[in-house]
Amino acid sequence: MSRVVSGIRPTGKLHLGNYFGAVKSFLKMQEEDDCFFFIADIHSLTTHPTPEDLHSNVQQVLAEHLAMGVDPQKCALFVQSDVPAISELYTYMNMNAYMGELQRSASFKEKIRTQPNNVNAGLLTYPVLMAVDILAHHADFVPVGKDQQQHLEMTRQFGNRFNNLYSNDYFKEPQAYSSTGNLVKVPGLTGQGKMSKSSGDADTIVFDEEDKVIQKKVMRAKTDTGPTKPNQDKSEEVKNLFDLMALVSDQSTINHFDELYSKAEIRYGDFKKQLAEDVIAFVSPIREKINHFKNDKKALSDAAQIGAEKANASANKTLEEVREIIGFRKFY
Ligand code: AMP
Repeated sequence: MSRVVSGIRPTGKLHLGNYFGAVKSFLKMQEEDDCFFFIADIHSLTTHPTPEDLHSNVQQVLAEHLAMGVDPQKCALFVQSDVPAISELYTYMNMNAYMGELQRSASFKEKIRTQPNNVNAGLLTYPVLMAVDILAHHADFVPVGKDQQQHLEMTRQFGNRFNNLYSNDYFKEPQAYSSTGNLVKVPGLTGQGKMSKSSGDADTIVFDEEDKVIQKKVMRAKTDTGPTKPNQDKSEEVKNLFDLMALVSDQSTINHFDELYSKAEIRYGDFKKQLAEDVIAFVSPIREKINHFKNDKKALSDAAQIGAEKANASANKTLEEVREIIGFRKFY
C-alpha cells in the first residue's frame, strides 16, 4: 500500500472543478492507499486571513470533504495546525533551504508579482513547509498538478540534502501520483478554459449555490451561433459545455445532444436547459450534505480529532527520528 499526501487549500467554497479534478481522486485513493489529506491552514497565513475567516474557511472545506465522501475512517483527513511536529520540522528543514533556490521558485515569483506589498518570509519558505508536509509522512506519492511539479522537485531536493548532510538515506523521494484517466480538466462556463475561482463568479458552479443561481449561470453560458452543416467541428465554448455534460449527465442524454449537433439540429436553449437540470441534480444532494456537516459540530470535531491523531502519530515519529539524526539528544 502506497502512502499518499495531499494538501487542501482552505480558500472557501468548492466548485465542480475541485470535485472532478481533486476530490474524486481522493475518494479513489482512500480506498487503495494510505492517505494523508490535510487542510493547509498554516500555509494560508501568508495571506493574513482574520481569525474568523481562517476558522470558517477550515470548517467549510472540512464539511465539504466529508460531504463529498472523504471518510475519516479510511484516511487521515486533518487540519495542518493540529500537528505541531510539522512546524518544528519546518524550522529544521529551513536550515537546508537556500535563498537563491527559494527566490527562483515559480510560485514565489508569482506571489511577488500579485501581492508586492506582502512579500513575507513565509512566502519565500512556502516550498519548505510543503516539503515537510510530505516528508513528515514519508509519502510515496503526491497528487500534483503542473503548477506543483516544481515544489515536488524541491521536496526531493530538501530531503536528499538532509540525507547527504547526515550521511543517511532517511527520507525517500516522493513521486508525482499519476492518476491516469481519473483526473479531468473541468471547463468553465465562460468559454475561457478551466473552471477556476479566479476567472470569476459566472465561470464556476459552486456547491453551495442555490438551484436557481446554477440554472441562470448555465443558461447564460457562452455558446456560438450554432452548426450550419452536419458534422461540423464544435467551437471551444460548445465543446466545453459538452465536456461538462459528460461529467453530470447520463450517456443517453449525451448521445442525444451529440446526435442533434452532428445533424446541425441542436437548439442550445434545450441543450443548456438539460445541462442545468443535470448539474443541479448532481450538485444539490452534495449541497444538502455540506449544510448538514457544517451544522454538525460533533461530526466535524470527531473527524478532525481522528485525523489529528493519525497525523500526529505519523509526524511525531518522524520528528523524533529527525531530532535523533540531527543530534538533539536529551541530557535528562
Ligand atoms: P484550487 O484551490 O482552485 O487551486 O483547486 C484545488 C485543486 O482542485 C487543484 O489542485 C486541482 O486539482 C483541482 N481543480 C481546480 N479547478 C479545476 C478544474 N477546472 N478542473 C480540474 N481540476 C480542478
